[in-house]
Amino acid sequence: MVAASLLVTFFLGYNKCMRTPAGKECRFYYQDFHRGRSEQVCRLVEASPQSAAWQPKDCATCPVPEILQANGNPDLVLEGVIHKGFLGLNRRMEVRAFCSKHMIDVPQPQVGCPQCARERPNLESLFGG
Ligand SMILES: [Zn+2]
Repeated sequence: MVAASLLVTFFLGYNKCMRTPAGKECRFYYQDFHRGRSEQVCRLVEASPQSAAWQPKDCATCPVPEILQANGNPDLVLEGVIHKGFLGLNRRMEVRAFCSKHMIDVPQPQVGCPQCARERPNLESLFGG
C-alpha cells in the first residue's frame, strides 16, 4: 500500500508543471534539488542550439507561461531562443510558434493558430443561418 501511494505521488508530481524561478507554472521548466543535486533546466531553450545558455533569471521576462495559459492547443509548437543583445543589455527570450497541424507559423502565440480557430465550431456557425 505504501509503495503504491508513493508511486501515485511520483506520477502526479511528474506530470505537474513546475514553478519557475519567477513563480509561474511552466511545463518547459525543470528543477531537481534532491539529494544534493542542484539542477535547473529550461527544456525549451535546451532544444534550440542557436540560443544563448539559459539562466534562471531568464524566466522573469519569458512570455511562455502566459502563452501556455492562454493557449491550450496541443498542436502549437513553441521554440525559444535567448538573444544576449548588445553587451548583454537587451537580453531577451524570443518565442516563435508553429502549428504542427497546419504546418504554418503562428504570428501571435497567445491567440493561437488562425486556421485552427477557423476550424473550431463556434456559436455563430452552430446557430447562425
Ligand atoms: Zn493550426
